[in-house]
Amino acid sequence: MAHATLSHSSRFSRLLSTSRFLRKPSPLFAGEGFRCCCSAATDDTSPSPRKRVVSGVQPTGSIHLGNYLGAIKNWVTLQDTYENFFIIVDLHATTVPYDTRQLGKATRDTAALYLACGVDISKASVFVQSHVCAHVELKCLLSSSTPIGWLQKMTQFKEKSRKEGGENASVFLLTYPVLMAADILLYQTDFVPVGEDQKQHLEFARSLAQRVNHLYGGRKWKKLGGRGGSLFKIPEPLIPQVGARVMSLTDGLSKMSKSAPSDQSRINLLDSKDLIADKIKRCKTDSFAGLEFDNDERPECNNLLSIYQIVLGKTKEEVMEECKDMSWGSFKPLLADALIEHLNPIQVRYHEIIAETGYLDKILSDGADRAIDIADATVHNLRQAMGFYMRNSAN
Ligand code: ATP
Ligand code: MG
Repeated sequence: MAHATLSHSSRFSRLLSTSRFLRKPSPLFAGEGFRCCCSAATDDTSPSPRKRVVSGVQPTGSIHLGNYLGAIKNWVTLQDTYENFFIIVDLHATTVPYDTRQLGKATRDTAALYLACGVDISKASVFVQSHVCAHVELKCLLSSSTPIGWLQKMTQFKEKSRKEGGENASVFLLTYPVLMAADILLYQTDFVPVGEDQKQHLEFARSLAQRVNHLYGGRKWKKLGGRGGSLFKIPEPLIPQVGARVMSLTDGLSKMSKSAPSDQSRINLLDSKDLIADKIKRCKTDSFAGLEFDNDERPECNNLLSIYQIVLGKTKEEVMEECKDMSWGSFKPLLADALIEHLNPIQVRYHEIIAETGYLDKILSDGADRAIDIADATVHNLRQAMGFYMRNSAN
C-alpha cells in the first residue's frame, strides 16, 4: 500500500468540493461560537483540500442533552464546511462494567440519534469504532510511547476509577486516553468538537502526537523508506462557547452524564414529553428572587437559563431581558415546552430511522469502508517508522 496518500486516495473526499470558507477555517470558527483551545499551529501534513473533523460518543447509555448541546449539535453546524468522521466509540464503553445485552442496542441507538440530530451522511462518515481494526492497532503502537504518569494524572481516570473502587478499575480505563488519541490521530484530524470535559484528553492526544512525531517521524522515518515529515497532524479541540458543560438537573455543580446513577439528573433525547416536563418540574433550583446568569452561588440557575438560550437559539441578553423578573414557577413550564418542541422532530426522525430495516447497517458499513482507507494508511506509516518488518503482499 502506498503510504501517506491519505485523503487523495479516499473515495469520500473526491465527492466533496472546496469552499471559500475553508481557506481560513480556524479563526472563523473560533469567533463563531467555538473556542479553539490550542495556541500551537496545526501541522499541515495532509494533502486534503478539506480540513477534517472527528468526534464521537460512547454508547454507555442514552444520549442526553449534554451530549447533544456540547457535541452533536455542533457537528451538524460544522459538517457543511469540513470532511467529517463521526464515530460511535463502542470500545470506550467497555472501559467500565457494562451490560453485554445492551451494548449493541446502545450502539445502534447512538448511530440513529446522530442522524436524527441532523448528521448528514452525504457530508459525514458515520461508523462504529470496533468495525475499524486500526483503532485498536494504533492504540497498541501508541502505548509504547505513552508515559504511564500522563495517564495516572487524567481527571476522568481519577473520578471513574474511584467509582469502580480504586484498584478494581480496569487497565482499559487507565489507557482510555490512548485509544481516544488513536481515534483522532488515525484520520490526520484538524478539529475535534467536544464538550469541556474532554479538553484534557485532547491535550493528551496533542502531546502524544508531538512525542511520536519527534520519536519516529522526520528524517528517521525517511531513512526507513518513508515519506519523512510528521506522522500525525496535531488536532485542535473545538469547544462551544455555550453548552460546553451542561450540568446535572439535580446538582448544578456536576456534569450531566450518561453514567450518573439517577435518570432524574438528565434529559435524555428520547425522553417522552411527560417525562421531560416532570424532570424540569422537579429539577433543583434555589430561593433567590428573579433569574440570572453567571452568579456562582446559583449554578442551577445559570445552567437552566443556558439550556433555554441554546434550544431557542436566543442571545444571552434576550434571555436575560425575558426572564430576569420571573419566578421558577413561571420559567420552568417555558423551559419544558422549549425542550419538548426542540426534541420532538429529533424523536420522530429517530423512530423512522430505527424502523427502516437495513438502513443503519448500510450507513455504518459504508462509513467504516471510508474510514478504513484512511486509517490503514496511518497505521502503515507508523509501523514503517517504528521499524517493523513490513509484510510483502506480492509474495
Ligand atoms: P459517560 O458518563 O459514560 O462518560 P458522557 O455523558 O460523559 O458519558 P461521553 O460519551 O463520554 O458522554 O461524551 C460524548 C461527548 O459529549 C463528548 O464530546 C463530551 O465532551 C460531551 N459531553 C458529555 N457530557 C457533556 C455535558 N454534560 N455537557 C456538554 N458536553 C458533554
Ligand atoms: Mg464521558
